[in-house]
Amino acid sequence: MILVSSCLAGLEVRYNGTHSLDHKIRRLLEENKAITVCPELLGGFSTPRQPAEIIGGNGEDVLDGKAKVVEITGRDVTELYIKGAYLTLKKAIEIGASIVVLKEYSPSCGSSMVYNGEFKGKKIAGNGVTTALLKRNGLQVISEEQFSDNIL
Ligand code: SF4
Repeated sequence: MILVSSCLAGLEVRYNGTHSLDHKIRRLLEENKAITVCPELLGGFSTPRQPAEIIGGNGEDVLDGKAKVVEITGRDVTELYIKGAYLTLKKAIEIGASIVVLKEYSPSCGSSMVYNGEFKGKKIAGNGVTTALLKRNGLQVISEEQFSDNIL
């Protein structure tokens, strides 16, 4: 079974109430090969919500207590992001996920690049908080950009 970001499957769970539909990912769901997860909803957020970025590093640094996740209003939401990451890990283990496909650039789900905390659209190399935790626990996490059918 594959665990995928809910927004990639077309669910309108992004901070602004939209989705990030990727037809390859949607097809996995229709073929009963995938289950969806949204770490931010698991963490306790609802949709819509304020945009948030990692300040002072990447997801690894957040897990290590060296960086924070902050909303554009300045509210520190680090704990909610960490909670969502652990609940996503629990779900991945429960379903025996062979691979996890998460939305690139998100402060939760990014797996190559994340926004740099300036809320100006600038990106830095690194994982989101959930991706960092899943990788630390031995799970293979890729983005929708890296996913192709021949991975299965
Ligand atoms: S990128 Fe991740 S946390 Fe953000 S809406 Fe999609 S599934 Fe939820």
